[in-house]
Amino acid sequence: MADKRDYYEVLGVARNASDAEIKKAFRQTAKKYHPDMHPDDPECEAKFKEAQEAYAVLSDPQKKAQYDQYGHAAFDGSMGGGGFDFSGMDFGDIFGDIFGDFFGGGRRSSGTERMKGRNVRMQVRISFEEAVFGCEKELEFTYQEECATCHGTGAKPGTQPETCPKCGGKGKVVYSQQSLFGMMQNVQTCPDCGGSGKIVREKCPDCHGSGYIAKKIRKTISIPAGIDNGQSVRVRDFGEPGKNGGPRGDLLVEVIVARNPAFERQDMNIFSNASISYAIAALGGDIRIKTVDGDIIYTVAAGTQTGTRIRLKGKGVPSLRNQNVRGDHYVTLIVNTPTGLSKEAKELLREFDALTANSLNQENGADASMNKKEGFFSKKKK
Ligand SMILES: [Zn+2]
Ligand SMILES: [Zn+2]
Repeated sequence: MADKRDYYEVLGVARNASDAEIKKAFRQTAKKYHPDMHPDDPECEAKFKEAQEAYAVLSDPQKKAQYDQYGHAAFDGSMGGGGFDFSGMDFGDIFGDIFGDFFGGGRRSSGTERMKGRNVRMQVRISFEEAVFGCEKELEFTYQEECATCHGTGAKPGTQPETCPKCGGKGKVVYSQQSLFGMMQNVQTCPDCGGSGKIVREKCPDCHGSGYIAKKIRKTISIPAGIDNGQSVRVRDFGEPGKNGGPRGDLLVEVIVARNPAFERQDMNIFSNASISYAIAALGGDIRIKTVDGDIIYTVAAGTQTGTRIRLKGKGVPSLRNQNVRGDHYVTLIVNTPTGLSKEAKELLREFDALTANSLNQENGADASMNKKEGFFSKKKK
């Protein structure tokens, strides 16, 4: 991954380019290197893929921010569970989105081109702690398994799929049409065989000719530490079967992280509140603070004001790219006002007040400074 080109460079835009500029640049780059325009040109294909990837990141505000901060390392896909996809977005979707308008309704394979199967999406709910430290989850989902009776051909046992007579097995048909500019040739997917080049005369009774049988299967997937709500884990080759010998799509598992009553998370940092007694706030002392690593003892400094925020370094969420790097945990200390005081405690507090701010013995309440001058209220009272 080290020698990957900078995404902004790939699209030829400035680092501060607007979303519209990025989209425009991607369309131009992608159009230039589109595989349909350069069949069997691996260099163009590589450039095309590079542009797709750059666009996938730069068009997504969250991923763009991660990239701006960490560069390519932000998307290092070396996680468990067969690779990792940051938002559940797959390039095929962006592709359809962007190309829909100038390739007439999305990317259509012409001919018996190998086509990757569609991705299948599902969601899994995990706890706050599971997101922080990673976990394994057993998922049950529908999987299109190759039919054992026909071995995926869709033809009844003892018969074979025949070469489509309409297209001669090419999967596409050429229509010639007279137009203003001369003879036009239009290549279309064969309507008889749907582009496969083969026709099944007698369908397999078990799969009704599809070649696949839907089965519920169970699979345990690894969810990496540091994953955040809405991000997805990609499980390669567990999507729908490809067409014409193309690879399977992937299973994209979107992670829904449950809220935690104690902790809030923002990227790699965790936030929480801790209440401290008035005495500890004033005199200092040890308090117990709940962290994702368990409780810790923290020594509060004497004279701590309510709302003081402390930082517990390295007690936050691990980085997805490097689990040894962790965010911080910020704790806001809230001074507890005592309630339900005993008579004795009240008396002591009055004594205490008399020794300190002496706020109780001033006519107009708390603010001592107000009493130094003859303020509005004191005048009114007299
Ligand atoms: Zn079958
Ligand atoms: Zn055909």
